[in-house]
Amino acid sequence: MKLILKDHEYKYAVEQIQLTMFPEERPEFTDGPVPEGENCGTVSLSYGEKYATAVTMLNVDGKTARGSARAAAEKLTDRFESDRLLQKIIKQSFFRAAVKLTGRRPVWGSLTGIRPGKLAANMMEKGMTEAEVRTALLKDYCVEPRRTELCLEAANAGLALKKSLTDRDIAMYAGIPFCPTRCAYCSFVSHSVEKSMKLVEPFLGALEREIAATAAIVRELGLRTRSLYMGGGTPTTLDSHQLHRLFTCLETNFDLHAMTEFCVEAGRPDTIDEDKLKVMKAHGVNRISINPQTMSDEVLKAIGRRHTKDDILRAFDLAAKVGFDVVNMDLIAGLPADSAEGFRATLDEVMALSPENITVHTLSLKKGSRITLEGTPIPDDKDVGDMLDYSLEKLSGAGYVPYYLYRQKFMSGGFENIGWSKPGTESFYNIAIMEELCSIIAMGGGASTKLVAQETGKIERIFNAKYPYEYIDGIDRIVSAKDYIKDFYGKEVHL
Ligand code: SF4
Repeated sequence: MKLILKDHEYKYAVEQIQLTMFPEERPEFTDGPVPEGENCGTVSLSYGEKYATAVTMLNVDGKTARGSARAAAEKLTDRFESDRLLQKIIKQSFFRAAVKLTGRRPVWGSLTGIRPGKLAANMMEKGMTEAEVRTALLKDYCVEPRRTELCLEAANAGLALKKSLTDRDIAMYAGIPFCPTRCAYCSFVSHSVEKSMKLVEPFLGALEREIAATAAIVRELGLRTRSLYMGGGTPTTLDSHQLHRLFTCLETNFDLHAMTEFCVEAGRPDTIDEDKLKVMKAHGVNRISINPQTMSDEVLKAIGRRHTKDDILRAFDLAAKVGFDVVNMDLIAGLPADSAEGFRATLDEVMALSPENITVHTLSLKKGSRITLEGTPIPDDKDVGDMLDYSLEKLSGAGYVPYYLYRQKFMSGGFENIGWSKPGTESFYNIAIMEELCSIIAMGGGASTKLVAQETGKIERIFNAKYPYEYIDGIDRIVSAKDYIKDFYGKEVHL
């Protein structure tokens, strides 16, 4: 769609709402004029004495519609608040015009951000009551009622955790970028996953260097580790000796006494065996994630998994035998070869196992994934909506509570990912990272450190290399980049 901005430069806001309302159209900014018959949107901003007003004119498939929204001029106080409000009305005006034109109302309304829970939490922290936030989400942003409630629950879980945190508290992440095969929806690990296995040993050597250097900084600053999350990839691709070596390195370098959560992604059931689980247990891992994504053998095959549903059940039984406080299971709504009925059966089977956490993702179409590259057919938005409706009803009916949620780009139907937990088994790391409550000090392949200054809201990131060979080759740079943690804490946080 051709997009023209008049009297403002909020390109990103316009692009985001265009992709939400017309996901099949690629945004293309122009100064005009637009040739007749081409789909286009003109988004203008004007300032009066009392209000700033955004107006969107859409011309799509020969039909036109106008939408507008305004913000009180007195609320455009500082630069940050003005930007926020002006972007909000720009999106609202576009949303209103698009609804008139298409009749389509996405479940998240005109909200385009990936952290709706954080938005609601911010409103409450600024003094709005829960009822006022609910009204704002429903009326201003046109979020549907059930999503509004999810958003409030996630916001409340975040605010509750925030109360227990000080500026010294951090979460840690270790990224292990290896998997036995590559899933069809994944853009993360290298395409030659099998071949990269010979890099495991040099990768561990490099990671040990990064762990030692990072731990020295954490000690110097007096930071306190509350949670350690090992993700990837699939960390359990490492054998039991390699896992033991890695856990030992972490324990030797970091003070982990204040840590209440030690989570390992044991995502692929075909990487789990009793020895590895016992090593994890012996090193204090208390939450593991076994991620079936689906319980259908046909769908597992379609997404490039080499294991079956029986392997998932075996892995779950082994984990129960070894005994972890929390087992999480991830599912994805919208996978190739799946259907609403198939997803319902998957959820029922997973719920019958009664894991403490169940995370329901919506398929996100990643650029480099096989599904996107090969144009693999996937369930349509209506089917995905039915799958999610079923999960909302079944999980809340069984006493699970939604404790964190996030959205991603290019998600089927513009839906969301929701983490559900039995009360009291919420994951610290998942809430902390989604609500941006504390710094996440990250090490390993594909890891990104996020430095958070609670008082000012300032956030900065340090990115590690993604693929094993890049990580190994770039370890000197990766280790030196960690020094920035000291600069950030020196400037932004009063410890
Ligand atoms: S298990 Fe996760 S990281 Fe590994 S290939 Fe599949 S989606 Fe990608």
